[in-house]
Amino acid sequence: MGIKQIEVYMVTLKYKEPFRIAPGASTESRNVILKILTDYNVIGWGESSPSKRVTGETPETVIEVLDKIAPKLIGMCPLRIEQDMEIMDSLVKGNPAAKVAIDIALHDILGKTCRKPLYRIMGGYRTEVLTDLTLSIKSPKEMVKDAVKAVRKGFKALKVKVGVNPNEDFERIKLIRETVGSQIQIRIDANQGWTPKQAIETLKKMEKFDIQFAEQPVPAEDTRGLREVKKNSPIPIMADESVHSPEDALRLIQAEAVDLINIKLMKSGGILKGRKIAEIAEAAGVPCMIGCMGESEIGIAAGTHLAAATKNIQYADLDSDILIKDKLVKKGGTKVKNSMRIFPKENGLGIKEVNEQILGKPKMIYK
Ligand SMILES: [Mg+2]
Repeated sequence: MGIKQIEVYMVTLKYKEPFRIAPGASTESRNVILKILTDYNVIGWGESSPSKRVTGETPETVIEVLDKIAPKLIGMCPLRIEQDMEIMDSLVKGNPAAKVAIDIALHDILGKTCRKPLYRIMGGYRTEVLTDLTLSIKSPKEMVKDAVKAVRKGFKALKVKVGVNPNEDFERIKLIRETVGSQIQIRIDANQGWTPKQAIETLKKMEKFDIQFAEQPVPAEDTRGLREVKKNSPIPIMADESVHSPEDALRLIQAEAVDLINIKLMKSGGILKGRKIAEIAEAAGVPCMIGCMGESEIGIAAGTHLAAATKNIQYADLDSDILIKDKLVKKGGTKVKNSMRIFPKENGLGIKEVNEQILGKPKMIYK
């Protein structure tokens, strides 16, 4: 079996409303979509949703990197994913958000070739995955309204964005907890917005609101600060922007700077390396979450399959496709019902039909 053709597409997907987090707001997601064709007529879908803020990548850099990698993959076996990744890493350093598109498409091909949904052949630990819904930063009162809407839709977990102003952040969490009651899981994400001192003080004050964990309280490169917060916070600390790769995970665990790790395919470079992070963390007794950037249903399906397959991925924040107005996938993908991501019966990722109008014409074709 060999890779016959790689098609690269660029899409712009508008959000339903501007999405605001501590470092700024965005109104759309500019993603690169990949279609890999094999000589056995199996097609794999992949996606990249680069975040300049997190990995320094843009759709343009993703396309540049794919231009170096894709020609070298023609003729290679799509099922030898570990070897294909090694080739990519030897050609281009870093650039995880470019490599992830290929990693996801190869995993889709693996599932379709084995005629099973991907999570089943990767271990099949769970059959569905509980996801939260993220509340973007607004005034505390507006965020309460959004929380109520989410709970009415059936969400059992809310991820609340904070990290702007500690007093207002306290107000946000207080009002949301008082309104949604004790049965809803609340986790928070400061996106590097606090200093270590602010984080420790604020998290101590928030302890009474039963917060599951606090994501990235301090700047990504401040390992000392993160360790300090973890040591003094009554709420478990999760690293997001601080951990991209398996090497980062090992380093932060050794530094005793984390209680939990947020794995994102766009940071790890795909499913293969995302799983390595989960396994390193498992050995250290550190549970993981799977998160997302601005992926459509394709990237979200990849994250959901990985989470279902992997015991140590105990939490999921897989909601970007819900925040996007434009639906790239017409049929298939992982739908949400009562907070649970449900798998379709289809093999591989389960993407059945893509909206050709949104996808448009390929930007590049390699064969
Ligand atoms: Mg985060």
